[in-house]
This record gives sequence, structure tokens and C-alpha cells, in this order.
Amino acid sequence: MTLDGKVALVTGGSRGIGAATALRLAEDGADVALTYVKNGARAAEVVDRIKNLGRRALAIQADSADAAAVSAAVSAVVAEFGRLDVLVNNAGVGFVGAFDETSLEDVDRVLAVNVRGVFAATQAAAGVLSDGGRVITIGSCVTDRVPGPGMALYATSKAAMVGLTKALARELGSRGITVNLVHPGPTDTDMNPADGPYAADQRALTAFDRYGNPAEVAAAVAYLASPGAEYVTAAVLSVDGGHAA
Ligand code: NDP
Repeated sequence: MTLDGKVALVTGGSRGIGAATALRLAEDGADVALTYVKNGARAAEVVDRIKNLGRRALAIQADSADAAAVSAAVSAVVAEFGRLDVLVNNAGVGFVGAFDETSLEDVDRVLAVNVRGVFAATQAAAGVLSDGGRVITIGSCVTDRVPGPGMALYATSKAAMVGLTKALARELGSRGITVNLVHPGPTDTDMNPADGPYAADQRALTAFDRYGNPAEVAAAVAYLASPGAEYVTAAVLSVDGGHAA
């Protein structure tokens, strides 16, 4: 299998895209650690499913807004599994709200997870990532196309991932570490349910008139984590059903 002997850490791996990614990387042969913030029971379910695949698994409570907790999570992975090869920066929070009603407290809260949290996790991981390792961040299709009002804060947070990904590709390239970004389109999760209040408009903007599912995003992450993607860095891989077209 493509990831045999590799160790991956997926932030926010208890539900949605992160859980699907954790499972997919395990299916491809990796041992997988995941973080969560609230849902220990859901995280434990993902761990059980990974162990049933014959892989090692570990769930760690670590709020991405807490840099010390994120750094401790990275250390715990290396202590448990002896190495780290793949970091998936998936943990994120959504936000929809009128621009003139978005408070600076909202700004701090969203950026703390979606930007500062990714920066901190990657900084903690960079020192221990194996040569030839992978950093894969989950951005958003709103970076390419903002479908309507109310997205200023969330789009700001996800657009920052484009700059961070390019800059880190330059930082880490000398060690053969690739740094890439995946832009999901509307994907059926708790954050953005396919039967939610904004679903019809989002669905209509895709070429397929349907939501994606978390496994479809996980497949893109699995490709970027695979040996076949070793010359792919600073790239954006959209899994958005044509949302940006
Ligand atoms: P969900 O809300 O369904 O799941 C979020 C996951 O992240 C959960 O595992 C949650 O843990 C964890 N999480 C949330 N906040 C934190 C935090 N502060 N620290 C650590 N973990 C945290 O989200 P999705 O699966 O939909 O989204 C995953 C990523 O994909 C996000 O970055 C999101 O912005 C992005 N995305 C999603 C799209 C969609 O349509 N769904 C579209 C484009 C991008 P817990 O279970 O403990 O709460």
C-alpha cells in the first residue's frame, strides 16, 4: 500500500472531512493520529475504525486555537509512533455573517483556528516531519469563488492558506517535503449539511448540481500524501464539483 510505514496526523479528525481523511490514510497503510476539540466519543469511533483496519491510531484532544496544545499533540504522535510523515491541517470553523455585523471578537475566534492554528501546527510539525514528508491543508472553494454575501471573514481565513502554502513550500522544499492545499467545494458534513439552509444555492453552483462527500475530498488528500505526488508542491487541488468554473 502507498502509505505503509508512514505516520499521519489529521487535525479535526473526529468528524466530516477530517474523519474521512483519517480513515482513507489508514486504508492506504498509514498509522493515524487525529485531534478533536469537543467530540471525544466521535474521535474514539474513528480510532476504533482505524484499528479495525489493522493500523495504529491515537486520538488527542487539542484545540487548534491553543498553540501549546497543538505542539503537545505533535510531540505525543512522535512519542507514540516514533515519527511523523504527513500533517493534514483540516480543523476549521465555519462562519457566515453580515460584514457590518461581524465583530472583531468573531475575527479573532475564526482566525485563531483557521489561520493561527494551521500556522502553529505546521510550525510544530516541521521540525519533526520526515524528509520527503507532506503538509496538506484543507482550504476552501470560497478562495476561488465567493458565492454571495456573508463570507468575508471565512474567505479571509481560507485565502490566507494560499500564501502560507506557497511560502512553506519554499521553506521545506530542501528537505523534499511537499506543501499543498485542497479546496473542497460544498461537502456534506455537520458544518455544511447537504440539506442545510444554504445548500440549494451552493449545489446549483457546481457542475453536477450536487454536494461532494467527505470521501471525495479525502481521496485528493490521499493522492497528495502518496509517493506519486512527490513533485507536486505549492499546488491547489480543487475538489469542488466545478464550483469555481
Ligand atoms: P465539521 O464541522 O463537520 O468538522 C470539524 C472537525 O474539526 C471536527 O472534527 C471538529 O472536532 C474539529 N474542530 C473544530 N474546531 C476545532 C478546534 N478549534 N480544534 C481542533 N479541532 C477542531 O467540518 P468539515 O468536515 O465540514 O470541515 C473540515 C475542513 O474543511 C474545515 O477546515 C472547513 O473549513 C473545510 N471546508 C469544508 C467545506 C464543507 O462544505 N464542509 C467546504 C470547504 C472547506 P470536534 O468533533 O471535537 O468538534
